Amino acid sequence: MTTTRFAPSPTGYIHVGNLRTALMNYLIARKAGGTFILRIDDTDPERSKEEYVDAIKQDLEWLGLQWDRVERQSDRLDRYADAADKLRELGRFYEAFETPTELDLKRKKQLNMGKPPVYDRAALTLADEEKTALRAQRGDGVWRFLLDHERIEWTDGILGDVSIDAASVSDPVLIRGDGQVLYTLASVVDDTDMGVTDVVRGADHVTNTATQIQIMAALGHSHPRFAHHSLLTGPQGEALSKRLGTLALRDLREQGVQPMALLSHMARLGSSDPVELRGSMDELIEGFDVSRFGAAPTKFDVADLFPLTASYLHGLDFAAVADTVVALGVPEHLREPFWNMARENITTLGDLDKWWALCRDGAEPLVANEDREFIAQAMAMLPDLPFEADTWGNWTSAVKEATGRKGKSLFMPLRKALTGQERGPEMAALLPLLQIVRK
Ligand code: GLU
Repeated sequence: MTTTRFAPSPTGYIHVGNLRTALMNYLIARKAGGTFILRIDDTDPERSKEEYVDAIKQDLEWLGLQWDRVERQSDRLDRYADAADKLRELGRFYEAFETPTELDLKRKKQLNMGKPPVYDRAALTLADEEKTALRAQRGDGVWRFLLDHERIEWTDGILGDVSIDAASVSDPVLIRGDGQVLYTLASVVDDTDMGVTDVVRGADHVTNTATQIQIMAALGHSHPRFAHHSLLTGPQGEALSKRLGTLALRDLREQGVQPMALLSHMARLGSSDPVELRGSMDELIEGFDVSRFGAAPTKFDVADLFPLTASYLHGLDFAAVADTVVALGVPEHLREPFWNMARENITTLGDLDKWWALCRDGAEPLVANEDREFIAQAMAMLPDLPFEADTWGNWTSAVKEATGRKGKSLFMPLRKALTGQERGPEMAALLPLLQIVRK
């Protein structure tokens, strides 16, 4: 059975880059009728925070990316210890004692000599008494996985055939000196134990994948299908990594981006399918195919989310936004007409505020000098509040008759006088909602 997982580290809020990963894994699982696991990668007790676990769940729920179960790496430390023991027994795990400064120096020397900065495995030649001495001096060492120096190959769901020379990769550290299990080992054990069949993650994980394939094989397991999506860049192709902090899902929510707009965008961006607003999650699931995504960096522009949000809102019936309209304080009998008047004229629900303020408080009239007399005459002909559905039609016909004005020179000054702006909703729909008229 298809099983996928989204595996965030709870060290911050999730952003659009994480969403790409979450959504692809979600859609694969749902399309196959499989299982989608939310895995909390919290082996780092210093940086992992419970508030981020809660925030990640809230963000996924907001988007409707419901997981089938939650797993936490901090609950599974025994499983990782077992795997570590097995690797030791197999002779694929060795303790190394270099300090970060020593490693840095080695890397610099290698680079100076034009060699790739790969760990030189000096620790492999340490005799037992040397290790005991180092341990006494420096504390426990780190544990590295001994890679087999051969090519590691897999067919990637997005990148196609990938081949990495293991000799160009340092033996990965799987356990730190303080005993903390690192992500690479934890992830391998989890993916195996949980029967994960498909892993989609960012292209920054390609080297991890190579080492994880070998670790899985050493532990006697086959590996899941892998697909690595390209990293997002800004609209000009600039690196987005520093700005991702400002593209947290909760910030987008705060700015009024609608879930369906964000999902529609992220489920297609960087694929050969057009980005279009979809009406439902089912539609997104139906049309999703990971192999349609390209390997090239994908440009992301937050501004693209707003037209999609607007189209989504334009299509909504009153019932879908009733709570928001009630919260604005619109009287009951005006709520539905208010929504129907305003919906084509908003980008986010936050914009409803200003249309309701206009209805409730009226607007400072905007009157050009040459229209002063005309507006005074028209206003004198305006019937008393409340206005009806036909008020605008009747009134403008009468004003046209009386002044001889027509077309734009008739309607535009009236709109500006009543709304204080040149553009906005249909006046016939707006007029019956006006609670006061400022003259
Ligand atoms: N916690 C890892 C990350 O956020 C998970 C990567 C993976 O999907 O394996 O990068």
